[in-house]
Amino acid sequence: MPKFFYDSDADLSAIRNKKVAFVGYGNQGCAQALNLRDSGFDNIVVGNIDDEYKPRAIADGFRTVSISEAVSEAEVIFLLIPDEDQQQVWKDQIRDHLLPNATLVVASGYAVAFDLLELPETLDVVMVAPRMIGAGVRDRYVAKEPYPCFVSVERNPSGKALQTAIDLACAIGATRGRGAVESSCLEEAGIDLFAEQALWPAINTCFLQAFQVLKGAGFSDEAILFDMYLSKEPSEVFERASNVGFFKQLKFHSKTSQFGQLRGTKNSDGTALKAQFEKVLHKDILSGEFAKYWSNSLAGGATELEQLWKDVEQEPIQIAENNLGLQK
Ligand code: NDP
Repeated sequence: MPKFFYDSDADLSAIRNKKVAFVGYGNQGCAQALNLRDSGFDNIVVGNIDDEYKPRAIADGFRTVSISEAVSEAEVIFLLIPDEDQQQVWKDQIRDHLLPNATLVVASGYAVAFDLLELPETLDVVMVAPRMIGAGVRDRYVAKEPYPCFVSVERNPSGKALQTAIDLACAIGATRGRGAVESSCLEEAGIDLFAEQALWPAINTCFLQAFQVLKGAGFSDEAILFDMYLSKEPSEVFERASNVGFFKQLKFHSKTSQFGQLRGTKNSDGTALKAQFEKVLHKDILSGEFAKYWSNSLAGGATELEQLWKDVEQEPIQIAENNLGLQK
């Protein structure tokens, strides 16, 4: 059974006085910095590139400096810039400016799990990863409501990293209610990447093929797209699935739909799909191959991503959407 951590496990009395740097003031950075301040931390600095988020940090009352300056004075560093930028920013602006015995906090496991950051031996590394967009992290903190969060200890030279992680999770409001759950960077990143690279591509492929089969039968683009997703039925289905359960939500459908879905699922052979999922998970993701490939692609200007966008524009379903005048 995974371990859960609650408000009662935290003690903010000492950690409140630590110097904390937020690297990045976007969705998570802004929400978590405000939550920390409202939890009594009064020594927070924001390190950001001189870009659109900087005026927001200043308006929120934070001192802003360059990333390397922020890091050089911090005992706790929240690394809250996009995952794909962390490797380069770490190398150029963070690594050589760290205080000995600082704690690094990540909100996503990606960079740590796949060794994209060169981590000094004296650095504690923890993950405090809200399963919630930044606005939700802030709104729930203010409303004193709980939200789900993963916590892990990745490096622990001080021997105190777990307590630090619990205290910081508490300070951002993540240990209320059912508590924050123990996880790991590899688990968090592995599941996330699996959804992105196996589960959703399979679902995307289903929609591409379904569209072509129905169109081939002479049905109109409008009717197909409205029935498949423009009606927002899939979002209602997933909303109900998250409330009552993946299959139990079928009870809200007609008997004909229930029969068709259960019988169709039972008769579907998932063997090839399972083999594909295993390959993506083990060969691409957990081996670190994907992370390496993506880092190289980013270093080369991410031209492959641009090409992939161009390719998908040619899909019949995309052309049908364009003809319907969906927002670009
Ligand atoms: P955002 O894109 O909202 O924020 C990015 C911040 O980083 C901005 O302040 C931006 O500044 C700055 N930034 C962007 N690029 C660079 C760069 N090259 N160098 C320096 N600073 C840069 O990111 P999120 O808050 O969404 O994500 C931060 C972390 O939180 C990630 O690890 C993410 O996986 C994790 N996370 C995100 C969740 C979410 O729902 N969004 C949920 C849980 C975790 P500017 O805009 O001024 O360029």
